[in-house]
Amino acid sequence: MSNSSSILVLENLQVRFPIANGFLDAIVGKTPRSVRAVDGVDLTIGRGEIVALVGESGSGKTTVGRAITKLVQPTSGKLLFGGEDMAGLKGFAALRPYRRRVQMIFQDAYQALNPRHTVFDIVAEPLRSMKLVECDDELTDRVSEALTSAGLNPAEEFFARFPHELSGGQRQRVVVAGALVVKPELIVADEPVSMLDVSIRAQILQALIDLRDQHGLALLFITHDLPLAWLIADRIAVMYLGRIVEIGTADDITLNPQHPYTIALRDATPKVRRDDGPREGIKVLQGEIPSAARVPTGCRFHPRCPLAFDRCKSEEPPSIEVRPLHRSACWLAV
Ligand code: SF4
Repeated sequence: MSNSSSILVLENLQVRFPIANGFLDAIVGKTPRSVRAVDGVDLTIGRGEIVALVGESGSGKTTVGRAITKLVQPTSGKLLFGGEDMAGLKGFAALRPYRRRVQMIFQDAYQALNPRHTVFDIVAEPLRSMKLVECDDELTDRVSEALTSAGLNPAEEFFARFPHELSGGQRQRVVVAGALVVKPELIVADEPVSMLDVSIRAQILQALIDLRDQHGLALLFITHDLPLAWLIADRIAVMYLGRIVEIGTADDITLNPQHPYTIALRDATPKVRRDDGPREGIKVLQGEIPSAARVPTGCRFHPRCPLAFDRCKSEEPPSIEVRPLHRSACWLAV
């Protein structure tokens, strides 16, 4: 789905990483193998839309985020941003305008912040390096505005602090401010709250939702946590072994999932009951996600799927529309 309100369109996006051949393989001339980290992803994000990308470790969701922000180079496919294909864009100078429009928030605020720089210098750094301000007054105004938008208020009180003088939540807000300060149109947030206390998580999530509401920001929210995705996102895409296996509105995917993998993810989530009924146990998803270097033939979920039948082992299911805006890559949806 691509239309004028889409800020980002991925078409058959692929990211492969080569695996070095061993000495013997090189001698016998064996073709080098590769890891199919992202293997044909189609995804659209509208302006002002929050899309969550959900999956286990090894599903390829972080690599999709890194490909969008050009931290890794797509192997093939299209990466249309504002209608322009950015997939082949390379080099610092060529990427600079794109990097201003697309920012990434990382999971680990400890690593993302330089411990020797003050909050002011950390947030001001992209403005200085991209030469986006003309004078010191403008620089101060932009840093102040970004810190305020990220919920650090009054902003001036944080200017001279160092990362070690901040709480975990405040550090993550500084990371958010550093992304916001260049006024991006899309933010890719990779597990931005997974290292925070539950009470702080809600504050950061609300700050991200406010940014969307106030500034029309689009957000790709990468997480392994389906309930968290439901809280923040308009739509959810579920990834498994390099592919999107189900996509739909947040309510549809969480409350009425169709793909056996999404159902397994939902059932593996603990639930808190409000009545005195017996506690429900969680259902463990059997097995491990295979290596992306050894993608099974047929449906890539079939070795772990309790509903697999013969066709699943030989033919990979296409993405099938099960209702408007809801697609599932499973033969049961035919
Ligand atoms: Fe399971 Fe088959 Fe559907 Fe794959 S196609 S999810 S193996 S039922």
